[in-house]
Amino acid sequence: MGATTVSGKKPARASGPDADSKVVPLKRPVSEAELPDLVRRMLELVGEDPEREGLQRTPVRVESSLRWLTRGYGQSVEELVRGAIFEEPHESMILVRDVEIYSMCEHHMLPFFGKAHVAYLPDGKIIGLSKIPRVVDMFARRLQVQERLTDQIADALMRVLEPHGVGVVVEAYHLCMMMRGVEKQNSKTVTSALRGVFLDGTTRDEFLRLAHGGSWLE
Ligand code: ZN
Repeated sequence: MGATTVSGKKPARASGPDADSKVVPLKRPVSEAELPDLVRRMLELVGEDPEREGLQRTPVRVESSLRWLTRGYGQSVEELVRGAIFEEPHESMILVRDVEIYSMCEHHMLPFFGKAHVAYLPDGKIIGLSKIPRVVDMFARRLQVQERLTDQIADALMRVLEPHGVGVVVEAYHLCMMMRGVEKQNSKTVTSALRGVFLDGTTRDEFLRLAHGGSWLE
């Protein structure tokens, strides 16, 4: 990090928490200035000057973006799918492929990103297709490990849809590995969660074939 060359201090502009009116209100009880203060201190600890022009509003921006990136904590699946579950005697597998995922690993608070493929075999109930990416997103917008994210998506759909089964595959790149040079730059992590009939040979094979076929990452 080029954090040691700190240019001369510029006169401070109005840069307190009040200067940014776009801060998303947070459901959790955190005082307005607490998070920006922590970020300001963090900047000092990595050798930066929080008062230099480019950084003056950084603490407020970081707070705002962190709230956005963790907004899934304030959401519930039941709320999210309300009004979007329909009775329907459809009996074949429904697969939504290539749902974009942007999440943050809980070990380093660095992004991981990729795609999720989500399938279920209905048992009298289907869900509006646009809701599946929203369920994925809700769990992704929390501090995560990819394994738990994958499981949570599968378990949530099992709960609200009571289908014959659910299959979820997540393929993702982790910046905590790529940026820190821990592993090969291009290694992707693939996780899967299978529930109900998706544990059986035929359904599982069909799902995995559909999920992996022509993957964008390959
Ligand atoms: Zn990590």
